[in-house]
This record gives sequence, structure tokens and C-alpha cells, in this order.
Amino acid sequence: MSSALNIPHDRVSRDAYIRKGPVRDFLDSYPKSGLGKKHQRSFQSKWFEGRKWLEYSKDYDAAFCFPCRVFGTAIYDETFQKTGFRQWHRALETNRGFAKHAMSQQHEINMNSWQTFLSSEPIDAQLNAERRRILELGNKERQNRYEVLPILLDVTNTLAKLHLPFRGHDETETSSNKGVFLEVVELVSRWNADLANHLKQASAKPKSYPSYTSPSSQNEMIQYSAQYVREKIVKDVKASKYFAVCLDTTPDTSKRDQLSIIVRYVGANGDISEDLLDFVHAEEMTAEGLFESLKSVLDKYELKMDNIRGQGYDGCSTMSGCYSGLQARV
Ligand SMILES: [Zn+2]
Repeated sequence: MSSALNIPHDRVSRDAYIRKGPVRDFLDSYPKSGLGKKHQRSFQSKWFEGRKWLEYSKDYDAAFCFPCRVFGTAIYDETFQKTGFRQWHRALETNRGFAKHAMSQQHEINMNSWQTFLSSEPIDAQLNAERRRILELGNKERQNRYEVLPILLDVTNTLAKLHLPFRGHDETETSSNKGVFLEVVELVSRWNADLANHLKQASAKPKSYPSYTSPSSQNEMIQYSAQYVREKIVKDVKASKYFAVCLDTTPDTSKRDQLSIIVRYVGANGDISEDLLDFVHAEEMTAEGLFESLKSVLDKYELKMDNIRGQGYDGCSTMSGCYSGLQARV
């Protein structure tokens, strides 16, 4: 079949094709055909009148029935559905040609299918409505999630402030002690419908709906809180301009020395503030090594070594030597 008679397969194109309606090639003069010059006839465009199903294709020089061609589930009139009608001298004869085809029951059924199709919403509108529905649902879910994040961050900050361990040994749903974080979240959810709904959704579809209560989420929130607190400390130290540093070393579980860098400065209200600025692994426990560690931390937060107005170090006698060396360098 020529391209005008090809029915697209994909839903959207097929929908558009059907809505466009019958193939009707209008020509100034239609080709004549038939036996002998005297009997030659041609298609006539006035035949379209009163026959909204009728099609004419110039590629085939033949007539077709649009609804039977498009909606006919089986071939019952090959001429009007597939090969095309060309017996122009019989076109208007009673019980033949157009009249015979239009009287058939199948044609009636296909005409109804066409009508029903046209009264339905276009496929792209249907798809858009579906997309909109999914999007709205997604937005609502997302919004709900965003609403619970401040609560979870608040729990994180409170636990961090109280130096409480977050995790439990058994965090499964049936555990009687899931760890402080999950137990507190559960407690708050008993009084907060948004959080309760969020946890319910997350446990119903764990793959598509993040709960934000997993160990990795807890770590992430701790990091966010730490970042926020640190940014605030750095901002306050910069506002105060001059500050003092206190260094303290503690061996961690792997016996490596961890260096805590504490800053003392005058806060906005005039009070002395003492805050932990950072916690780094001390590469070398020498005056030189400690100096480099301190310098790299101060550089990281864009704090000037020149603005240091005081130094304090832990009193451990074994360390006093290198600290005094450091003190001299700073
Ligand atoms: Zn038909």
C-alpha cells in the first residue's frame, strides 16, 4: 500500500492517523479506466458527498472504506479494505458498489467503532493526563519526604549534642532496641502523622521510597550537621579575627594519633567560645609534622596563622618537647 494508506503501529501515530480521517485525493481530472473507449469511466469527487467513509487514493486509482480498512479486525470485504474498488461503472448501482458495501453489518460495526474512537480523548491527552497524575503523585511523595527531613536532622543534631551513639546492634523491624536514632524517630512518629506516613510508605516500598533512616542516611545527616556547625564556627572565628588554638592528640583504635584542633575566640556576644574545628590524623608527631597538620587545617578553612594570638597544648610530658617546638614555630 502507498504511504497514505499505511496505518502506523505506534499508539500515538495511529491515533493521529485515525483522527485525520479518510484518504481523499482531490484531482482536477480522475484517470479513466474500463473496457473500450466508449465505456471508460473514472472516480468522481462528488461521490464523497453523503459517504463520509469513502476514500480515494490516487496511488491506487481506487476507492476504499476508511473505517473498514482501519477498524476491521478481519477481512470480510477485501475490495474496500485492501485491494481497492475500481469498477466505476458499478459504483452507484443498487445492491452493488458503494451501496452494497455500506449495507453490510461489518461496515456498520466499523462505522460505530470510528464514532466511538472520535468521541474518546486523544491518546496524547490520555498519556498527558496519566503523566500528570504520576507527576503529581511523585510531587506529593517528594514533598512529604522533604517535610520529614528537618525532623530527622533535628533528631540527628540532638543525638550528636548529647554524644549518644546512633546505631543499634539489631536494627530490624522486630527488634526491641533498634538503637537510639531509630527508637527516637519511631517515638516522634507516634506524635507526627507526616513522619508516621513517611515511615509506612518507605517500609511498604523500600526500593522506590527512601526512608532516610538507613545507616548511610544517618551518616550523611551527621556529616551535613557537622558541615553546618563547622561553617558556623569558621564564620564566627573570622568575624572575631584573632583566635587561639589548642591542640590535643589521642591515639585511635588503630593506635594512630588523631590530632584535635580546638579554637578559642570571642563570640559575637562577647563571650569566649571554645570549639572543635577539626580532627585530623597526625602524620608525624614532631614539631614539624604537627605544624604542617595545623597549617593545612587552617588553610582549608582560610584562617590566617598570623591571627593566632594564643596557643595551648595537652600537658603530656612525652609530647611536651615537640609541642614546645611547635609553639616556637607558630
Ligand atoms: Zn466499510
